[in-house]
Order: sequence, then C-alpha cells, then structure tokens
Amino acid sequence: MTQVNDGWIKTTCAYCGVGCGVEARPLSSGKLEVRGDKSHPSNYGKLCTKGIALGDTVIHDGRLLHPTLKMGSRTEALSWDSATQLVADKFTQAIEQYGRDSVAFYVSGQLLTEDYYVANKLMKGFMGSANIDSNSRLCMASSVVGHKRAFGSDTVPVCYSDLEQAELVVLVGSNLAWCHPVLFQRLRAAKQDNPNLKVVVVDPRETETCNIADMHLSIASGGDVALFNGLLSYLEENEALDTDFIAAHTNGFNETLKVAKSEASIEQKTGLSRCQLDDFYQLFSQTEKVVTVYSQGVNQSSQGSDKVNSILNCHLATGKIGKVGSGPFSVTGQPNAMGGRETGALANTLTAHMEFDNVEHHQLVSDFWQTDCLARQPGLKAIDMFDAMAEGKIKAVWIMATNPMVSLPDSKKIKAALDACPFVVVSDCIADTETSRMADLVLPAQGWSEKSGTVTNSERRISRQRRVLPSPGQAKADWWVISQVAQKMGFGHAFDYIHEGEIFSEYARLTTIGNAHGERDLNLIGLTQLDDRGYSELTPQQWPVQSMQSQPVEQRFFSDGRFFTPDGKARFVAVKHNDPRSQCKSAVPLLLNSGRTRDHWHTMTRTGLSAQLGSHAPEPYVTVHPATAERYQIQPDDVVAICNSQGEVLARCRISDEVSRQQVFMPIHWNSVTAKNSKPCSLIIPNTDIASGQPEFKHTPVNIRPIRFNSSGLVVSKQVLECSAYEYWVRQKVEGGYLYRIESMLTQSKLSLSLQALVDRTSATRLSVLSQSGGAADTMTAYAGEALFAVVSTCQSHNKLDEEVLIEAFHSPESHLLESAVISA
Ligand code: SF4
Repeated sequence: MTQVNDGWIKTTCAYCGVGCGVEARPLSSGKLEVRGDKSHPSNYGKLCTKGIALGDTVIHDGRLLHPTLKMGSRTEALSWDSATQLVADKFTQAIEQYGRDSVAFYVSGQLLTEDYYVANKLMKGFMGSANIDSNSRLCMASSVVGHKRAFGSDTVPVCYSDLEQAELVVLVGSNLAWCHPVLFQRLRAAKQDNPNLKVVVVDPRETETCNIADMHLSIASGGDVALFNGLLSYLEENEALDTDFIAAHTNGFNETLKVAKSEASIEQKTGLSRCQLDDFYQLFSQTEKVVTVYSQGVNQSSQGSDKVNSILNCHLATGKIGKVGSGPFSVTGQPNAMGGRETGALANTLTAHMEFDNVEHHQLVSDFWQTDCLARQPGLKAIDMFDAMAEGKIKAVWIMATNPMVSLPDSKKIKAALDACPFVVVSDCIADTETSRMADLVLPAQGWSEKSGTVTNSERRISRQRRVLPSPGQAKADWWVISQVAQKMGFGHAFDYIHEGEIFSEYARLTTIGNAHGERDLNLIGLTQLDDRGYSELTPQQWPVQSMQSQPVEQRFFSDGRFFTPDGKARFVAVKHNDPRSQCKSAVPLLLNSGRTRDHWHTMTRTGLSAQLGSHAPEPYVTVHPATAERYQIQPDDVVAICNSQGEVLARCRISDEVSRQQVFMPIHWNSVTAKNSKPCSLIIPNTDIASGQPEFKHTPVNIRPIRFNSSGLVVSKQVLECSAYEYWVRQKVEGGYLYRIESMLTQSKLSLSLQALVDRTSATRLSVLSQSGGAADTMTAYAGEALFAVVSTCQSHNKLDEEVLIEAFHSPESHLLESAVISA
C-alpha cells in the first residue's frame, strides 16, 4: 500500500545505502512529518539522526528554481524548452565537430534508478559514447571489480539479517555506527540478544563502531591485503579450509595460496602484533558463520580491488558464502549506488549487468534499445573524465546531482577542468554549490521529497521513493529533463516516456533479455508486468525477482555453489600487498585519513539545512593524537593548517587518541559554501586503483601547523553573510538563521568594526543597534532592522558558552541577556 493511516506516505530515506523505509506526512503548516516504516524489512521502523531530521531539510532555502543561463556575472532565466534545446544543440554540435567521445555525463548515487537508466541509455545507446560515470566511482568501484573477478558478476550475496544470524561479524574499513547507523543498530541489538556473537573492527581509527567490538585491530593504513593473505595461510596451516567447496566450486586456489604464503612481514605491513593476528585468525577459522562487512576503508585505496579479493578469497576458501549468517558484504555509501551499478551508469559496464566485452550482450542491448550506435568500449572513469576535460578533450559535460568540486580529489584540477570545458551543465536542487558556480547552465532538479521512482539498497532490495511534496519553482524530475534533451537531439522514439513507471518496466524487461536460464544474477522478470497501480503500490522487492514478492523475502546468492563465470565456478584471485602510492616523508610526515561524520551527508547541501544535524559536528575538524599535538605545539580547539604540495586547508583541532600518532582524520563535508578552505579533497592526491579507477581518499601524506589569530568573532544572522575576507570562517545552521565563527588577524576592535560593517552591508534596510554590552574590544551587539537581524560578538577567543549566549540573544533580543551578558576574552 502506498498510503497508510492519516495521510502517511511510504517512501525511502535520501541518504545512505541502508535504504531505510520512511513514512512521511505533509502537514498543513507546510512542514513534513517523518517516521520509520515499521513494515520495511531493512529497518523495521528504525531511523538514524539523519533520517529522523529529513523533514528539516525540505525547506526551500537556497533552492534552484528556474533553468538559468550564466554568462559571467549575468544570468538569464530560461524556459525548459529553451534550456533543453540549448543542451541538445551543444551536445549535438560537440559530437558533430569533435566526435562522440567529446561529451560526458557525470552522475550520482543520489539519482533514482529511472533517472540513471535514461541517462545511461542516452549516453551509451544514442550519443554513442560510454563517457558516463557515477560518483559511486568514489565509493564502491573497487568492490564491483572484486566481485566481478571472483564471482563473474557484481553480486552482493548476503542479506542484512545475516548480520544478526552470524557468530562473527568482521567490519573492515567501516565506521558502521556513523555511516550505516541503522545497520549498526541491528548488529548492536543482535549482539545484546546473543552474547556469543563476536564483532571485530579492523580500522586504523578507534571509531564509535568499536563500542560494540570484542576486538579492535588498529591496522596500519594499506595493510588489509597482508592481513587477509595471512588469514588465508593460517586457514590452510590449521586445516580450516572447506576443501570440498574449493574443489567443487572454485578455480585458482593453489596459485592464490602460494602467493598468500609468500606474503612476508605481515606484522610490519599491518602494524599488528603476532598475538593480535593470531587471535583474529583463530576466531575466523573456528567460527562457522562469519560475515565480513567492508566499506570505504577498503574501497578508497590504490589497492582497493585487491583488498576486496583478499577478503573474498578467505570466504571462498572456507565456504563461508551463500549460507545463512555467512558471506562477504560490501555496504554501499549512497542511497542508490546499487541502482547505478544495475542500470550501468559506470563507464566500464554496459547495462543491466551486461558487459562491453561480450558480443552477445552488445547485440542484445542494441536490439532492445533499437539503436545502431551503442557504445562499443568502456568510457572514461571519473578521474580520467576530468583529466580529459582539463586537456580540452571534453567539449560538453552534464553533471547531475553531485558536487565534484568538493568530492573529487585535487580540487584545483577539477576547477581547471571545468574552466576548460566549453559547455558545463549542472542539474541540482540547490542553487549555490561549488560546482554550480562553474556551470554555464544550471537546471533545477526535484529534491528528495518531490521525486518519484525506485532505489536499490545494499542488500539488493528495491524500494519506491515516492513524491510527498510538490516541487518548488520549475524543478523537474531528472529523467524528464534527460528525455526532453534526447527528444530534441532526434531520439524521440526511444525517450517518449510520460511516467517513471514506464521507465522502470522497460528496465525490468531489459534485465530479462538473454537471461532465460539464469545467465545473469540481475533479473527482474517478476516486475515486467507492473501496471501504473502496481508500480504505485510496489512494496520492497529483493532481486532477483522471479515473481512479485507480496511479503519481504530473504535470498542469498551462491547457495547452490554456482557462480556467474563461464564455467560456473568462483575464481580465487592471487593478490599481494603493495604499499600505497604516496608515502610520508619529512615535509609531509603525517597521514590524512578522511571520512564522514555522523550527522552530515556528503557536501552538506541538505543536512546543512537542519539546525539539529548541524549541532553534532558544528565545524570542520581534524583529529590529532595527543603526542602529535604536543609535537606540533597544538592546543585543543586551535585552528590548524593541514597542507601538502596540493594545497592547504583549515580545521579546528580535536585532540584524541582515537587516531594513531602517524594519522590525522578530517571529515569530508565542508566546502567553500559553508567554510573557508576546509575541504580535504584539496589535499587528496588523485592516485587511483588501476583496476577500478577508485581514488585513494584514506592515505594522503600531509603536514600540520597551528595558526594563531588575534581575534575571534561570532555572528548569528538571519541571512547568509559574505565572509571571504576573513582568514577563517565557518557557517552553521541554527534555528532561524546561521551562526558564523570567524577568526582573524585583525585586532579585536578592528574585527568588531569590520563585522558591524559586514552586518550593515548585508542588510536590506538600515539597521540600528538594539543593544550592546561589553567594551569596544569585547562586545556583544544586537542589530535590528524591521526584525532582529544579527547578533555580533568579538573577543580574543570564544567558547561554547559564548555561542549559547549569543544564540539565545538572537532568539530573544529583548531579554535581559543582552544587558547582562559579558563575553570573556
Ligand atoms: Fe537514512 Fe541510512 Fe540513517 Fe537509514 S541508516 S535513516 S538510510 S541515513
């Protein structure tokens, strides 16, 4: 059922790959009420902080409302007809003049499956190039490679319930507690119910996930292949192999074991003691039901694919796959990363788990799409795509629902690439992003609550995302915009969709061609006959879908020992430890690790709208070990510069022994819209895994130094302020406005005057001073226009209490607070 009682509409969370079911209900106030969907088999009603706050992010602050042409500082609103005609003309001209590979799409795991399908069909099927890549390249491309090498298909074999039915869960490079919180909650509850369930965390950092760990292996960065090669050797030496499974269902074991046994110095490569290694190896070998969960700590590496295969080798060698409570489990970062893998929105796959190097697949897809110009070879992966752009080879690019200026490594190069590209189109729901600033044309996309389509989560479960609110302005569905462009390019017959359900049906039919006998894992034959009502009321379906699942099912791949290789056997892949490409040296003696915080998502374009979410980690920060802080003379809460030859970024220092002395950690979310120069991607060297093209985000040599400022300012403002003149600033959403933290080399009195001028400049009406406390160098001043506009405070160094006082003053300007508050220096 689409609707439940009292107007609640079932949909799916916008954020991580857990894919929680959500019920949302629009209120007459314009707000959106949100709760977990108790009937959804991924979360059974649970939501994490981000899911609970979804309603806070549907406000229209900063939305992009009209197609807009940008010409230098001038902008011109366009009709959809003109805007899509312009895109069609520019892409057609580029193809005619420079060839099919002169155009590119850079898309996103935020797109719905229907959007992805149409984008891939247009680029690969009709523009004739495979230059379409998803930002999922940054997230799980190494897992795709690992799966295909071992299984012959990109198959995630397990279900979420396997975590609950396992006896040992190994979490490798995964801060599940923050990055997949509801899955973590399920695991934590399972451990409470079953004290025999053991959890091992393999991570250089001691993260929140370690709170439920029986063992934390603080592995050296890049040591995973050595760790799992050591495990494979141990399994053989201790007669813990499943020799029957190996003989009947796999190839390549002996060669792989030989290479694993030649792995020397495992203690040194992993940074773990013999005792730690033996304890882990013994636990794995003596436990029947083992799930190994892995995530970005494995994938985002120049050896990511080999790391994945080193894990898969151990599961294949022990037959711990395709069984209840057992299997390797790649958890995806984005809500529809899996949908992109399925529809083929990665440059090196064709579509529907069919491949470029298979002549039969090429013919099947050509016939199905009725096209004679289907791309014949893989296109450019994300990093290569932007390199080609910088070299002038890409003449038109369309970026959809992603912010590569913030998320791709080497931001300077990405900027140069977009500068060099003659025509940059950006589809986004947010008006001001670092990437939209680089666009020639921006197209308003629907936001989460306005979209309608499907997403696939990490356990292969397809769920409906449903429209619960109307779209503001002229925002449109991505599939509609792409189809309009396709029609104007002359491909109307293949893109005459009028409803997203038609697209889904076509995609479901595509998964069945040449697949009558289970040739491929992805098969949605049970969903090919959906009518409008069936699509509208579709309940979660876990693929493969042989027939419509009226109740949630749990299916595991490989239970029959059959894999999707030509001979049906899984392949062991011999892998060997290689050091990460970049190494520390005296100029860059520390390793920067990067990742997510609990309450923010990617580049904060949505979570940055929620005051509640903003309070968990209000500022870009860098975590530094106490000994490192002492060595570099860093005090708690200092602003620190982190630098290497790529550039320099700023962050507030957190001193904690959750990181090792060699490492520092920074979250990925802040960017120049929300802070001054605080995005770690400016420092990330674009080293990639050769097989997957996935960049190495977890291993960047850097140096650090504290910065001493002369003055500190706090401003709470109803409006966004232009703060670029200050040496350090960060913006945090608070109720009714924004809190700015500013650090400056100005004297306190000059900063005070400067901030007062800033507030005055930003106001539409002349402001008067409502109230003032303190002296010239240590003041809190409230300004009022028609309504209170801002509260400003300056002193040498603010603390948390100062912020609270200021925010309270902002919300209650007439209160005695303004008379009594003194901000201490
Ligand atoms: Fe959304 Fe992921 Fe949280 Fe579930 S766990 S509510 S999908 S962010």
